[in-house]
Amino acid sequence: MSVTCTNSLPRLDAHGEVLGQRYSTYLVPTLKEAPAEAEIISHKLMIRAGLIRRLAAGIYNYLPMGLRSLRKVERIIRGEMNRFGAREVLLPAIQPAELWKESGRWDHFGPELLRVKDRHERDFIVGPTHEEVITDIIRREVRSFRDLPLNLFQIQTKFRDEIRPRFGLMRGREFIMKDAYSFDVDNAGADRAYKAMYEAYQNIFQRCGLQFAAVEAHSGPIGGSFSHEFMVLADSGEDAIAFCPNCAYAANLEKAFSEYPLTPGPQDEPLIKTHTPNCRHVPELAKFLGVPEALIIKSLLFLADSEPTLALIPGHREINLTKLKDALGGREPVLATPEEAEKIMGVPMGFVTPVGAKVRILADLGIRRLGSGVAGAGEKDYHYINAQVGRDFQVESFGDLSLVAEGDPCPKCGQNLTIKRGIEVGHVFKLGTKYSESMGATFMGADGSESPLIMGCYGIGLGRTLAATVEQSHDQDGIIWPMSLAPFQVALLPLQIQNPQVTAAAENLLDSLTSLGVEVLLDDRDERPGLKFKDADLLGLPLRVTVSEKSLAKGQVELKQRATRSVSMLPLERAAEELKTLIQAALA
Ligand code: ATP
Ligand code: MG
Repeated sequence: MSVTCTNSLPRLDAHGEVLGQRYSTYLVPTLKEAPAEAEIISHKLMIRAGLIRRLAAGIYNYLPMGLRSLRKVERIIRGEMNRFGAREVLLPAIQPAELWKESGRWDHFGPELLRVKDRHERDFIVGPTHEEVITDIIRREVRSFRDLPLNLFQIQTKFRDEIRPRFGLMRGREFIMKDAYSFDVDNAGADRAYKAMYEAYQNIFQRCGLQFAAVEAHSGPIGGSFSHEFMVLADSGEDAIAFCPNCAYAANLEKAFSEYPLTPGPQDEPLIKTHTPNCRHVPELAKFLGVPEALIIKSLLFLADSEPTLALIPGHREINLTKLKDALGGREPVLATPEEAEKIMGVPMGFVTPVGAKVRILADLGIRRLGSGVAGAGEKDYHYINAQVGRDFQVESFGDLSLVAEGDPCPKCGQNLTIKRGIEVGHVFKLGTKYSESMGATFMGADGSESPLIMGCYGIGLGRTLAATVEQSHDQDGIIWPMSLAPFQVALLPLQIQNPQVTAAAENLLDSLTSLGVEVLLDDRDERPGLKFKDADLLGLPLRVTVSEKSLAKGQVELKQRATRSVSMLPLERAAEELKTLIQAALA
């Protein structure tokens, strides 16, 4: 019979995590230099601080420190999901192709979808998201309005074969997502579910210590749906957001709308063909003709599934490709090459004309307001003046195709919009009946009738949230963790570890701290103080406590707060309680 000596076992917190770890045996491989492929600061720091390591492009290992922070994000998310009534499930990463054929996404998802075959040559996919699987559960298990509403969530690994995996955890190919799916009997219920998730997300990102904004997002061509993205503001963000400094308007640039100012062109003036040598681009043409750029009708030839479309927009505006894609029924528009333009329209790009064009024409709303302007004449070095909508060329449909620019008027209050960059960490989406209809997920109402369920879906990237935190909270020396996500709350640094008094004081403090439930990383390495301080700054734990011969002589330890860099002395015998109080205040 063996006897376990409980004294030698580490103290655990309520989640089963070890409260006090020793640096020397914990695997914290810090680096002086970041690898060359790390472009943004969060990626550099997460590698340098030994939180993560790359296994393959867009595929990362979490080392012990990184995993501790990931678990904290996870617990915050799980708590808020539970608080707002979602139920946790865990669905498989591998999904049968049949479900994706039913929803139609087997054909439409494109190369981001990783397809695999089993030994029987059956098709499977590695789930990039789980609408199909969850809808399949609901259509089998939920029959009646009495079982509803329902919101199910999971925290699970996804795979998307991203074209450009980069920025470490920010845009990986394998990544961990919290995805939730709500099912309601009517629109009012679906709106309540959406609002609940919106509120949960605000709590989650607040508790993660992030500066964020919920912005209106593009939701694709599905009618009746809407969505918000939760954006962490950061210059390195891949998304651009239009913000109104006056009212609450905030929208992803993909979605943002503005009725930008425009002076209408002359009405009912004769169409004149004029020689415009070497004026291929808007600025030189405007200068040559002495007209504002806004008066020039830019005719851009796009191909969508090799079908040509001419998109018209005033010369001073840029095309919003996301909106154009929607206008093309979800088909990806690709700007024609000069060769393609020449072949299809018979002239070089820049002289392409809508007048008499044999291809479909879509135009921005600004073209309708303009009424007439300067357009290509379908002949090299010639343009038309006074080309008039409806008289000289026909537009199949007008729509909002313009990209909002800095200074455009806010669609709600008219103030000038500003454009900032952001990282999308979460997305709430009112789906409607897209999946319930295609996959037959219906319920029986009180009157016995069958109707499709109304769905919502709600995602958060855990690794991206962690990376966004570092992106927003760091200085030249390293990470500055918010208390809520720090791998440990305290970095405990005994400076002269050959001195038994110093070591004993540090060990005692470790014991007192962990007995109060404080998470501590004890730097027990036999290293120079300078190196320990450098690593402590890099790791970014919120409270650094130094025990040295000098401080002990006064019965004290030194406290340095990572965020403010403020230094103070604490009496050794009360240090644990005072640190605990600081931590509780930061987490409140
Ligand atoms: P993006 O526009 O950045 O590609 P998405 O619209 O494809 O994002 P969703 O399908 O809404 O993303 O996924 C929900 C959440 O999952 C995102 O808000 C983000 O936090 C996370 N996420 C999506 N793609 C990745 C990725 N490649 N790496 C890490 N996290 C991701
Ligand atoms: Mg994506």
